[in-house]
Amino acid sequence: MECQLDRTDKTYCPSLVAYKRRRTRVVNIGGVPVGGDYPIRVQSMTTVDTMDTLGSVEQCIRMIEAGCEYIRITAPSIKEAENLQNIKEELRKRGYNVPLIADIHFTPNAAEVAARIVEKVRVNPGNYADKKKFQVIEYDDASYQAELDRIRERFVPLVRICKEHGTAMRIGTNHGSLSDRILSRYGDTPLGMVESALEFIRICEDEGFYDIVISMKASNTQVMVQAYRLLVRKLDEEGLQPYPLHLGVTEAGEAEDGRIKSAVGIGTLLEDGLGDTVRVSLTEAPEAEAPVAQALIDRYTHRAEKAQPIKPICHNLIDPFQYRRRETVEVENLGGLNVPRVVADLSRLTDVKYADLKAVGHLYSMLLDKFNMNDLGADYIYTGDNPVTFMLPNGLKEIVNYTAWQQAEHQEDRHPLLTPEVYLSEASRHSKLNFILASVHDLTPGLMDALKKDNTAVLVLHTQNEHAMPELRKCFIRLMNNGVQTPCIVKREYGQLTPDQVQLYAATDVGGLLIDGLGDGILLSTELLPVQEKQDELQTIDTLNKLSFGILQAARTRMSKTEYISCPSCGRTLFDLQETTAMIRKRTDHLKGVKIGIMGCIVNGPGEMADADYGYVGVGKDKIALYRGQTVVKKSVPAERAVDELIELIREDNRWIEPVKLEEEV
Ligand code: SF4
Repeated sequence: MECQLDRTDKTYCPSLVAYKRRRTRVVNIGGVPVGGDYPIRVQSMTTVDTMDTLGSVEQCIRMIEAGCEYIRITAPSIKEAENLQNIKEELRKRGYNVPLIADIHFTPNAAEVAARIVEKVRVNPGNYADKKKFQVIEYDDASYQAELDRIRERFVPLVRICKEHGTAMRIGTNHGSLSDRILSRYGDTPLGMVESALEFIRICEDEGFYDIVISMKASNTQVMVQAYRLLVRKLDEEGLQPYPLHLGVTEAGEAEDGRIKSAVGIGTLLEDGLGDTVRVSLTEAPEAEAPVAQALIDRYTHRAEKAQPIKPICHNLIDPFQYRRRETVEVENLGGLNVPRVVADLSRLTDVKYADLKAVGHLYSMLLDKFNMNDLGADYIYTGDNPVTFMLPNGLKEIVNYTAWQQAEHQEDRHPLLTPEVYLSEASRHSKLNFILASVHDLTPGLMDALKKDNTAVLVLHTQNEHAMPELRKCFIRLMNNGVQTPCIVKREYGQLTPDQVQLYAATDVGGLLIDGLGDGILLSTELLPVQEKQDELQTIDTLNKLSFGILQAARTRMSKTEYISCPSCGRTLFDLQETTAMIRKRTDHLKGVKIGIMGCIVNGPGEMADADYGYVGVGKDKIALYRGQTVVKKSVPAERAVDELIELIREDNRWIEPVKLEEEV
């Protein structure tokens, strides 16, 4: 029976099954409109000191050439705000009409100057009219209202200037810098983030000002995704305008980790048609950010035409505003309370040797004749029709195709992958763990009934649909609606894509499910490299294995390495962030699960690293403040001693472990 999408209490996007962009209001930003049917725009932020006019202009040009359609520049005080005029004039003189955005924290007076010069002003509702005191103050309704009146008084002059000058505004909430007022009433939650923006939006609408873009950034991808969804929902409920959304994950970090984390957060929202402009924040040169943002966006240009239709969803048991892992039975080390598992695809190798397992984190020492597993040791290998011919190390199990399993010796030592047809026949099975490869079309009532009675079954869900994440999500919804608690591994197979595309696409497709508590494992395959040599294939396997662990970590479902929450740097940055991040990483990247914030300045740094266990924050030239959580414990450490002192701090908390070099000799 056909049914309509459930619109009771979980609606946050136009469709959970078809690709449709959310209909948003068009906001003109210096002749480059955002929202409506306009393309999803790419933007980024300069890192050069705003007072360095030529340096800023040259960086802007590099960013424009890399694909930036808007450029944001920090204006920490009136003098930088005024210098935006010089930057703008020089850019125009050189023939660049890119709209400029002033980034404001704490300084309404700088905002009021900038709003007369640039095309858009970004304000942070957490600190526009509030100084952060890290106090929890109890507000009753009257004192809360008095605070809102005080904000209105500070904020209205800016709104009026924007209205008069045709300047757009971004109301950009950050999870890490919510005001004490919001924290005391709503806590450190997606709802607090949304309310923080709504307070400012209501004032704008009262003033008849609608040229607004909104963002809900967090470094925690679950919080970020939930906040954007909740924002859409609340705007709708309150009858406020459907403002365009600026998507971003704050302090995503650098290199591979930064890209994966950005794709998990931003990609998840883009899949559901949310987002009108994207900024990817990497601790790298700003011109490195635009191509990543563009690659994320490009995936949706022809999505609607290429997607296979997916039937509507009648009931959706997933709560999009709160993380809850789908309940599953435990089958061996899969499902239940187990962390999601990593399955490495070795099926294209015909003869796996001991040494090859290094690509999946299991290192063989010939001298000691034993295996060591590193932090990224895969849990399973899938060998297809080519079972391995030796005993696997502890902690690693094997999945083989059913026919190969039937023919293999020692059937108990490996696990079969069955088609649904074979599974439903009287075929012999493993006594403890069997995998069934299934797509949405295979999830028939017969199969689901059989799964319910079988506590040895694990599904391997896959799809050929271009609209992959929603179709896989539909599989999970169908299982949940039918009370099937079988654990599921999400399998994604990518054809001839570039390594960068595979990284972003897999992070989006699997991360988008994990964020909603869906998935008990991950299995990635690709034809990434034209395989000439076994070495190429092993390299691909190694890349995908690391990517799998990276996705699980970015979606916050399995921590296997140290997490770095580093700011992307801007004109306020007090040290070389890239170099410092690399230095800290070199000394600490074996501290599994520890979160270290590396922030360029004291103004925003402490707030922005809300999630970190330790913080390394610039306070002055060659001076660093060290934090334990949100508390500063060393106020002004000389930069050359700061990493040692940070390690000392971790040691004091008994969280330090000495790095171990794994034995390997093959
Ligand atoms: S924390 Fe980093 S990006 Fe944020 S304002 Fe300070 S230096 Fe700039």
